[in-house]
Amino acid sequence: MKVISINAGSSSLKFQLFDMNDETVLASGLFERIGIEGSCYTIKYNDKKVKEEVEMKDHSDAVKILLDKLISLNIISSFEEIEAVGHRVVHGRDKYTESVLITDEVIEDIDTFKEFAPIHNPANLLGIKAFKEILPEVPMVAVFDTAFHQTIEEENFLYPVPYKWYTDYQVRKYGFHGTSHKFIAKTIEEKLGRKDLRIINCHLGQGASLAAIKDGKCVDTSMGFTPLTGVVMGTRSGDVDASIIPFIMEKEGKNVHEVIDDLNKKSGFLGISQHSSDSRDIEEGIAAGNRNCALAEEKFIRSVVNYIAQYYVLLGGCDVLTFTAGIGENSINSRLKIVSELASLGMKIDVEANNVRGEFRKISADDSKTEIYIVPTNEELMIARDTKTIVENNR
Ligand code: AMP
Repeated sequence: MKVISINAGSSSLKFQLFDMNDETVLASGLFERIGIEGSCYTIKYNDKKVKEEVEMKDHSDAVKILLDKLISLNIISSFEEIEAVGHRVVHGRDKYTESVLITDEVIEDIDTFKEFAPIHNPANLLGIKAFKEILPEVPMVAVFDTAFHQTIEEENFLYPVPYKWYTDYQVRKYGFHGTSHKFIAKTIEEKLGRKDLRIINCHLGQGASLAAIKDGKCVDTSMGFTPLTGVVMGTRSGDVDASIIPFIMEKEGKNVHEVIDDLNKKSGFLGISQHSSDSRDIEEGIAAGNRNCALAEEKFIRSVVNYIAQYYVLLGGCDVLTFTAGIGENSINSRLKIVSELASLGMKIDVEANNVRGEFRKISADDSKTEIYIVPTNEELMIARDTKTIVENNR
């Protein structure tokens, strides 16, 4: 069975085509600047790469080009080979607790929930509508970033604010990166051959979140009503006191949207370091003696350690600590510093084993009370797996 995983942004469309018989990637690529001058695409297949500038007015143009290219590059021989399409959807509110077959009702809901994800849900819908137009008979599945976190219980997802905000406006913690957290939990369960595990997963990329997972179910996560909260990120602040917002509005004569924009785009690593949002640049800055880079890293490490400690208590211990995403998979230094701060919980890193980037590996010392792993995430594969299962179950 061949399945395409789609991650549509407002002017981009990322895809991976899988042969789900053995989960191999037949092709992957990115369509960029859709609807903007200079639109182009890159397709990778069989160790080859095609890159071309071509006009794309909208996502339907991008999907048409994608499908035509899959045929002209001999990656597939006809459209019928594509048996299902899986779409990443950021917000499913509290209605979608798992991935679902896309129906008119699902499309309507994704549209309704856009007030909770004003940039992402409309962009995800563009991808869904383009495929629906061009491959109307092919079943499609929505895989929600929020779904994995729907097992979080009320005492953990509620904010201590007027209860009416929750009952009338659905203000609560939703959590994000759910597809990645689920993928990591499943990978660890398979590798260790056990499901009864207490896992703390650190998804540390430009956006970062932690999840506390028990017996395969999410118990708590660090992102909240939006992806702005939790740990320090590339440009997002993570947790801050809400009273800062009106204070800065007054000081800088800004409106609320401008200050929220500062918290989303000018904070985190970038805000403190005044140098870069990228942890590689921060590490270089530290090596060059930049004090603000050192502060930014210190603040990041501290915020991650605080959440791990909190989740350790919440789960009543931790069998497995996992690191994933750009920083989690590649920053030897960040992993080392985070785990060093957790010595009082009996966690201990194997410095030699940790000296690796981007591959699955156990990195805990033999006498560590918690097993520690690097697990490369693969959200596209998780989307394709869910899509295959749901489409087969609905035949
Ligand atoms: P992601 O959002 O998961 O794609 O992660 C992207 C981030 O990972 C980048 O902004 C960097 O901060 C970080 N990153 C990627 N490669 C490395 C590396 N080799 N060392 C340290 N950080 C890295």
